[in-house]
Amino acid sequence: VRALTLEKNLQYQSNHPAPRAGEGECLVRVRMAGICSTDLQLVKGYMQFRGILGHEFVGLVESGSATWQGKRVVCEINCVCRRCDMCLSGLANHCRKRTVLGISGRDGCFADLVCVPESNLHEVPDALTDEQAVFVEPVAAAYQTLSQYPFTASTKATVVGSGRLGLLVAQVLSATGCKLTVIGRNAAKLSLAEKRGVQAVHVDELACRADHDVVVDCTGTPAGFDLATRLVRPRGSIVLKSTFGGVQGVNLAAVVVNEISVLGSRCGSFSDAINALVREAVEVRPMITQTVPFERAMEAMAAAGQAKHLKILLDMRK
Ligand SMILES: [Zn+2]
Repeated sequence: VRALTLEKNLQYQSNHPAPRAGEGECLVRVRMAGICSTDLQLVKGYMQFRGILGHEFVGLVESGSATWQGKRVVCEINCVCRRCDMCLSGLANHCRKRTVLGISGRDGCFADLVCVPESNLHEVPDALTDEQAVFVEPVAAAYQTLSQYPFTASTKATVVGSGRLGLLVAQVLSATGCKLTVIGRNAAKLSLAEKRGVQAVHVDELACRADHDVVVDCTGTPAGFDLATRLVRPRGSIVLKSTFGGVQGVNLAAVVVNEISVLGSRCGSFSDAINALVREAVEVRPMITQTVPFERAMEAMAAAGQAKHLKILLDMRK
């Protein structure tokens, strides 16, 4: 099969051995996959991952149990044991023995075929295109923010970062009716937020007042976190949506002095994400800046790091 692998270097292989499904798993033929910031970080050495990259995808079940055969599916990325203390207490996403598709201990979806646990699958409704379905995983991650903080119409909230994740989080929060602002530095990306009715402010034009109830940092940078500490009110909350690049230069004293709650936030509900995409509460199509045939995956990975791009999709369908 064709596959994009990360060993010492990133490599496109046209003849990688086909994966074989283990017990409780099925084989999915990938139709489209999305390149995520996490993929770019993995290439730089994050998690010391080795294997086939990729965790955002839609595909058709090629072999597995009769229930799933031929169905168009998306797949939760945490593969769990269902036996450990975390699994048994309802926190399976934090399973002690988990592997994570294309991120930790398990081959991902930048390939013609991928093996996944059947229990991780969700059928994609006909109302969603393949392009929309690829976004289920990141939209689910955006929804996790709602399960961790009680947003209401009176909540004053800010999203820092107008990239891939920031624009998804902004749309999800906007649906709660909260008083929302998105802060970024790319005019084209900020205008996408404005088109969805979210107030957008360029970081250079920001009047920084520590009066926000909650700030969601989607930059994954020390500068983004620092800005969040200056925007949040005393006793307010900062939600970290991106894996943090490092602590150098980060002012943790502000967290202590202003008694700020810092919440880490990762994967969320696929059902919520699928429903939101069907209802068009989250519009993802304007975020696709390029769709690239899978043969050109190396080129696509290089382009994904450029500021002008939001989401680049890999097309495995032909
Ligand atoms: Zn477990």
